[in-house]
Amino acid sequence: MASTRIPLVAGNWKMNFDHLEATYFVQKLAWLLRDARFEYKRCEVALFPAFTALRSVQVLVESEKLNITYGAQSVSVTTQGAFTGDVSADMLTRLGCSYVIVGHSERRKYHPEDDANIVDQVRAVLAADMIPILCVGESYEERRQGIELDFAVSQVRDVTRDLSDEEAAKLIIAYEPVWAIGTGMVATPQSAQEAAKAIRDDLTGSFGAKVGNAVRILYGGSVTSGNAAQLIGEADVDGFLIGGASLDVDELAKIARLT
Ligand code: PGA
Repeated sequence: MASTRIPLVAGNWKMNFDHLEATYFVQKLAWLLRDARFEYKRCEVALFPAFTALRSVQVLVESEKLNITYGAQSVSVTTQGAFTGDVSADMLTRLGCSYVIVGHSERRKYHPEDDANIVDQVRAVLAADMIPILCVGESYEERRQGIELDFAVSQVRDVTRDLSDEEAAKLIIAYEPVWAIGTGMVATPQSAQEAAKAIRDDLTGSFGAKVGNAVRILYGGSVTSGNAAQLIGEADVDGFLIGGASLDVDELAKIARLT
């Protein structure tokens, strides 16, 4: 990856860990990463707990002044009111969240999250001074047809179309081929690089080189300590969005060390 972008290792816990398990995990992770490399922020580690664990993570991170950032796995597009079960962006900002994952393939599949809703989530996150991690990536079918690059690029374009340059520069994109998520089938470093570069080139075309160079592009899909070093060796891969392997604290710390 390019030296100007700080690599990000993001652990997406999905629907795992209650607040007690989350607290234990964060304490152990902070201990495993207690040396200078993380003090000086040459690699950023972010966790994405369930809503119910966010407050516990906040208390621990703030009281111990840990070099760990965190965020939520999704957000409501509305600001307040009669929306049973929803959590607003402002509520997340007040919990110290830096990021919100937007448009994860599991959210697109199990909830009515289409492009219009994802655009609104991105706007809500930015308006609340957090950073959206926008997930894109093709299914097996698009890959079989050989249209995976166009597919991922157009997913990014559809969501970013109406953003200002300043807003676009804040985004993080996670390229996560759907066929690689939770399957043990990881993209090759070359194909992760091809997709990240295609997305970056398209952002450069739309918003200029400054934005194209600023946006961090993560790879996600069956990342482990066994494949992270090769993937991060690619010029346009700026870190990882990690599901399964982020539930094992030793494994996550190992990946952070390799990144
Ligand atoms: P995985 O999940 O690492 O378990 O493949 C990645 C993700 O869903 O973000």
